[in-house]
Amino acid sequence: MERLQKVIAHSGLTSRRKAEEMIIEGKVKVNGKIVKELGTKVGPNDKIEVNEVPLTKEVPVYFLFYKPRGVISAVTDDKNRKVVTDFFPEVTERIYPVGRLDYDTSGLLLLTNDGEFANALMHPKHEVDKVYVAKVKGLPLRENLRKLERGITLEDGKTAPAKTKVLSIDKKKQSAIVEITIHEGKNRQVRRMFDAIGHPVLKLKREKYGFLTLHGLSAGESRELTPHEVKQLR
Ligand code: URA
Repeated sequence: MERLQKVIAHSGLTSRRKAEEMIIEGKVKVNGKIVKELGTKVGPNDKIEVNEVPLTKEVPVYFLFYKPRGVISAVTDDKNRKVVTDFFPEVTERIYPVGRLDYDTSGLLLLTNDGEFANALMHPKHEVDKVYVAKVKGLPLRENLRKLERGITLEDGKTAPAKTKVLSIDKKKQSAIVEITIHEGKNRQVRRMFDAIGHPVLKLKREKYGFLTLHGLSAGESRELTPHEVKQLR
């Protein structure tokens, strides 16, 4: 027997938190009866319906995607802009992005229909190193980058220590390419960190997510994760 919200999340329909909200809101039935108790346990023979639609368990799928700039990290957009799932027309499973990259950020994004997996990776205690390459305005001084390495106070709190490395500078254009490694996922974190030291980000790409890289992929392309990679990420 498993908890109802866990079974719903495992089906790929939504995250565990959203599943809990749906249960509380009375949108979930077990064997024809609305269940609002979060602790409810269900077994393989129980018939679960969400919004009157029977829950079917999807085979979990996992993709590594090279998100281009100008794409929303979501499955729908009310302004009809391109979304990441537009790049997966053949995939019938209900995949969605694990976290997000800004509209203007390119780079490595994972997509899955496995709610538990996505939640675990997005949890703050899951400290995966994320490596970004940022083109920033101006030529940052070492002492300013050290501020990022020590952790800097943003409006929603102090950032954990980051690693930085200047890859190149362009004195003529007064810009620099800086590699920065963080393991948190605050909203627009890298952009806000560089804003805080007076070097706004002009271009941003996520190169690595833990041990995963974009190796072999061009923008807009994806590949499935291997079972071994999925296991290592958990
Ligand atoms: N930090 C940002 O500022 N933007 C992203 O898309 C990812 C990290």
